[in-house]
Amino acid sequence: MSMFDKIAIIGLGLIGSSIAHAARRGGLAREIAGHDASPDVLDRAGKIGFCDSLHADVGDCVEDAQLVILCTPVGAYKVVAEQITQQLAKGAILSDVGSVKGAVIRDVSPFVPQDVHFIPAHPIAGTEFSGPEAGFASLFDGRWTILTPLPGGDKDAVAKLKAFWQGLGSQVDVMDSSHHDLVLAITSHLPHLIAYNIVGTAHDLEKVTEGEVIKYSASGFRDFTRIAASDPTMWRDIFLNNRDAVLEVLGRFNEDLAVLQRAVRNGDGQLLFDFFTRNRAVRKAIIEQGQDTAEPNFGRNKN
Ligand code: NAP
Repeated sequence: MSMFDKIAIIGLGLIGSSIAHAARRGGLAREIAGHDASPDVLDRAGKIGFCDSLHADVGDCVEDAQLVILCTPVGAYKVVAEQITQQLAKGAILSDVGSVKGAVIRDVSPFVPQDVHFIPAHPIAGTEFSGPEAGFASLFDGRWTILTPLPGGDKDAVAKLKAFWQGLGSQVDVMDSSHHDLVLAITSHLPHLIAYNIVGTAHDLEKVTEGEVIKYSASGFRDFTRIAASDPTMWRDIFLNNRDAVLEVLGRFNEDLAVLQRAVRNGDGQLLFDFFTRNRAVRKAIIEQGQDTAEPNFGRNKN
């Protein structure tokens, strides 16, 4: 017995297609319906075949669906929510995968009918690739998904969505949306901002040629370039929609960086050594909790 008769996935890129693959793997829905605004993406999704039905019209896609998941860039949520509000089925769960939660609640809530359960969600899983070809069934295996239900929301609906994400292979946590946005600002948003910035700085340095930046990148730089290869639309929307939390952690980051800058200028080896020693332990904890591999060089091929 499937958990849902019909689920609808809006936006068939990396995350939307991965949900479809994993839902099919887990037998979680009798019908997986998909919609994307781009006819080209719809065509490519049809060729891969991870949906049972594809719809050029978003309203048709969500009709009779018991679970609807928004998987477009966050900046498009408001428009999509407005488009589907009339067609959402009574008692349906409306959820999403957006990397920010406060702004999603602000944008989507006004369009959620009384008899629909809106439960925002965010899978902490991804790659630097986009589009329907980028998705795969095991993307969420062992990763965390955070649900940020609204106060007073239906507990049975939350339990059902939690079971769905567990069926996709994920572990599930529940927290308040503002706490989510602060946690993700430091664990995801700030690292991306730093990566985009360091790649830009290296690229612009006049005394070092671009050829040298590429040639000697294995000395550390290339690990930033993987993060900085992420989708520009998605990351623009994240920084536009999590401004306060990002500015808060950026302020703290700048203060800590100034301490390191002073230690370098003053030749304070003890401070640098103690700082590096303390923070090395974080990597160990990430490996112990199964969130990365312990293999040398992040398990990359030798070359
Ligand atoms: P993606 O691969 O670029 O896929 C997004 C898809 O949505 C694209 O096919 C896009 O079409 C389509 N789209 C854009 N506007 C639309 C609209 N108004 N109606 C219907 N479809 C529309 O992006 P993604 O990486 O899957 O990210 C999707 C969501 O997941 C974002 O909200 C992001 O915050 C969240 N997320 C991403 C990651 C990650 O690592 N990538 C991780 C966790 C959560 P076009 O390409 O033609 O615009």
